[in-house]
Amino acid sequence: MSKPAIRRRSPPRPALRPAYRKILELNSFNDFGLAEPITRALAEERYVTPTPIQAQSIPILLTGKDLVGIAQTGTGKTAAFALPILHRLAANHVRPERKSCRVLVLSPTRELSGQILDSFRTYGRHLRIQSALAIGGVSMGAQVRALLNGVDVLVATPGRLLDLVQSNAVRLNSVETFVLDEADRMLDMGFIRDIRKIITKLPKERQTLMFSATMPEDIAELGRQMLKDPAKVSVTPQATTVERIAQRIVHVDRGNKSKMLSDIIKQEQNVDRVLVFTRTKHGADKVVRGLVKDGILAEAIHGNKSQNQRERVLKDFRNGRVRTLVATDIAARGIDVDGISHVINFDLPNIPESYVHRIGRTARAGADGVAISLCSADEADYLRDIEKLIRMQIPATGIVPTRTAQRPPQHQQARGGQRNNRNGHRQGQRNGQHNNGQNRNDRNHDRNREPAAGQQRQAHQGHQQAHADHGQNKPRPVASTQPIGSAFANVPFMQSR
Ligand code: AMP
Repeated sequence: MSKPAIRRRSPPRPALRPAYRKILELNSFNDFGLAEPITRALAEERYVTPTPIQAQSIPILLTGKDLVGIAQTGTGKTAAFALPILHRLAANHVRPERKSCRVLVLSPTRELSGQILDSFRTYGRHLRIQSALAIGGVSMGAQVRALLNGVDVLVATPGRLLDLVQSNAVRLNSVETFVLDEADRMLDMGFIRDIRKIITKLPKERQTLMFSATMPEDIAELGRQMLKDPAKVSVTPQATTVERIAQRIVHVDRGNKSKMLSDIIKQEQNVDRVLVFTRTKHGADKVVRGLVKDGILAEAIHGNKSQNQRERVLKDFRNGRVRTLVATDIAARGIDVDGISHVINFDLPNIPESYVHRIGRTARAGADGVAISLCSADEADYLRDIEKLIRMQIPATGIVPTRTAQRPPQHQQARGGQRNNRNGHRQGQRNGQHNNGQNRNDRNHDRNREPAAGQQRQAHQGHQQAHADHGQNKPRPVASTQPIGSAFANVPFMQSR
C-alpha cells in the first residue's frame, strides 16, 4: 500500500465500549459472511460484536444498495462502511485504472480523513488493497505520485480532491463506491458546493453512502439528489454513563460528613444498595463505625481484609443482608455487583478519573443511578478537576464554601442544563473548532479552513477534549438530576428537588 503523506497516530485499539457490550450476544462479525482476511483482521483488533450501526448497515451495503446513515463519530460508523467496501473490493479484485480510484471517501477534515484511511488499512491489512490520502495542508507532490498507478481506496477532503482533479492527477469516472462522511459537518464548513462539483464527476452507476450526525434540510436535499432509493439506518448514541446518573454534591464540613452520610442513607428514597467510597482503608472502617452507631448496618471492604472476609461481605451485599458497603477505590475494583442504586463519595477522589469509575458502579446494565458526593472545603480543588473532566457542573446543595462561591444557583439551571448538555456539546464543536462561521467560497483555502491536525485530533477524540477546550470560560452543562426525595427538605440546609 502506498504510504500516507502525513504522520498520524494509529487508530485506537479500544476495549469494547459499554454501548457495544450490551448487544454482545446478538451478533457477531462472522454472521455477515465477510471475507476471511477481514474477519481475521477484526479478530486481531479484538472487535467481537458489531455496533448497532454496523449490525444494521453491513448486510445492506454488501448487497450494493445505497444507504443513508444517521450516526455520529464514536458509533463505529467507519467500520460500518469500510468493512463491506473492503469485502466487495476483495470479491472483485481488479487492478485500479491509472490515476483513478475505485472507492472515494470524502470527509470534512484532514484528521478524520487520516483516521478513515487508517481504518481501511487496519481492516484490510490482509488484503492487497492500494489506498491513498488526498488532504490539504501538505504538498500535492506525494499525493500525485500515490495516485499515478491508481488506488482502490482514496480518502480525501473536498478542496484538495478538486485540486487534484483539476491538475489531472486523478479522474473520478471509475468510482464504484462513493462515501460522503459527516455530511452535516461538510455543510457547516461550507463544502457543499465542492461536493456538488465532485458528484458531477462521478459515474452515474455507483453505490453511494452518506453519513451524517444530523439531517438538516440541505443535507436531506443533497441525499435526494445523489442517492438512489437508499436504505436508511439511524443510531442515536447512548447517553454516556456519566450523563445517565443523577449526580449531586453536598457541601458539608468535614466534621459533619459522618452524620450527613447517615441522614442521606436514611432519608434517600429507593435505596437498594449503597456503595460508599472513602479514600483510605482507615477512613472506610471509621465510616462503618459511624454508620453502625447511627443504626445502619454497614460493612467495609478494603485491602486489609482477608479474602474470606471480603467474600463474606460481598455475599451479604449481593443478597441484600447488608445494604451499605464502604470501600476504597482499589477494593471496589473487584466488586461486581449489579443493582447498586446509590454511590456516595464520602471523600472526593483526588484523581478525577476515579470519580467516573466510582459513580459508574451505579448505572450498570443500562440502569440509571444516583451519585452523591460529600464535599468539604478542602476538597474544592478535587471537585473542580472532576467537573472539568466530566464537562459538567454537578448540582450542589449545602453551604458552598467561599472558595467555590462562584457556583451559580442550581435548581433552575439543572433542568435546562441537562437538556442543553448534548446540544451544547454539538454547538461547541461546530462553532468552536470546526467552523469559523465563514462560508467557503474558494476551495484553495482548504488548508486555512481545515483545523490543524492537533485541533482535529481533539475534536475527533470526541466530547471530552472538545469540552475541555471550550469549557474554561463558558457555563458548563449541569449533570443530570433526579428527584432526590422530599425527605431532604427536613435535613438542615438541604433543599428538596
Ligand atoms: P468510529 O465511530 O468509526 O469513529 O469508531 C469509534 C471507535 O470504535 C474506533 O476507535 C473504532 O476502532 C472502535 N470500534 C468500531 N467498531 C467497533 C467494534 N465493533 N468493537 C469495538 N470497537 C469498535
